[in-house]
Amino acid sequence: MKENIYNLSFSELKSFFIGLEEKTFRADQLWNWLYVKGINEFSGLNNISKNIINKINDKYYLSELKVSKTLLSKDGTRKWLFELEDGKEIETVYIPDKNRGTICVSSQVGCSLACSFCHTGTMKFSRNLRTSEILGQVIYVKNFLKDWNKNSDKKKITNIVFMGMGEPLLNYDNVIKSINVLTDEKGLAFSKRKVTLSTSGVVPRILDFKEDSDVNLAVSFHAAFDEVRNILVPINKKWSIDHLLEVLKEYSKKKKHKRITFEYVMLEGINDSINDAKELVKLIKPFKAKINLIPFNPWPGSNYNASSPNQVNIFKKFILEEGKLLATVRLPRGDDVLAACGQLKSF
Ligand code: SAH
Ligand code: SF4
Repeated sequence: MKENIYNLSFSELKSFFIGLEEKTFRADQLWNWLYVKGINEFSGLNNISKNIINKINDKYYLSELKVSKTLLSKDGTRKWLFELEDGKEIETVYIPDKNRGTICVSSQVGCSLACSFCHTGTMKFSRNLRTSEILGQVIYVKNFLKDWNKNSDKKKITNIVFMGMGEPLLNYDNVIKSINVLTDEKGLAFSKRKVTLSTSGVVPRILDFKEDSDVNLAVSFHAAFDEVRNILVPINKKWSIDHLLEVLKEYSKKKKHKRITFEYVMLEGINDSINDAKELVKLIKPFKAKINLIPFNPWPGSNYNASSPNQVNIFKKFILEEGKLLATVRLPRGDDVLAACGQLKSF
């Protein structure tokens, strides 16, 4: 059976050429074709001999993800539903902005963690995505936007967030491998400052992540009290707020230059009082951090209401003025086509 070439790390590609008794610079050439020029078939490799191309072709294949549906929001946000080789489906979102373009990638089919306010959480967990399926999402969107410009100032896709379907730290190896390819300067060359992994708080993996990766970390915090967080983010019953903050301290010690983003979805009457804000400030104060308040994006059948814009503002003002911490409010994007945070679910 042939293997998808997007599953390989650079060193695995090098080993392939060593196995063929070919020079290792062939790996550099092929890597450049794949991740700088963005070819979509092996036949176009005009600096590699036919004989070698045949050998690549014998072992590997190159193909785009298959789209089964696309949606375009009024605000320019696009959502794709991809059908994978085994028929399973995932979603990817592209969010264009004035000075940047962000892709939100999925890391699993479904999610096992069942956060009560998250649409993806209502889907059963099906399986982890392979590296080729994670990278395939970015490559598809780059092809779609014709975004293979060498001049990095002209790139349409500047930011990648692991905030689509799934818990990235529960698909650790494939996610780290994908991040390494995404940020490889000889390839796709995304800046490590512009790639963000969001986790609901898989404590032991945060410790690994601090050793293995240098991209940004966002934590789905959502509540300052265990009783509330146990309901919103049930993994909190396994790894409580104290435990989570303890490993985040370890993370901060190692990554002194990094600012952790604490994501906080604003749910009316659940976690949006001044008392919540007070406790949140107390917990986050020791960190180099930013609090990102996320207006709740409703989905059919959801049990929560979004906090009013006024309440979100009061909450934010408290964090900024009393807490003297950074706080921003995330603008909902693509919500008319269920492409906003937490609305993703195979339709
Ligand atoms: N599993 C990871 C990453 C995917 S979720 C995590 O939980 O962090 C990406 C972000 O969207 C998380 O902060 C998540 O809590 C948030 N989110 C989920 N459902 C939401 C909803 N309905 N409205 C707003 N944000 C939501
Ligand atoms: Fe999974 Fe994240 Fe949704 Fe929780 S918020 S169910 S961890 S995708």
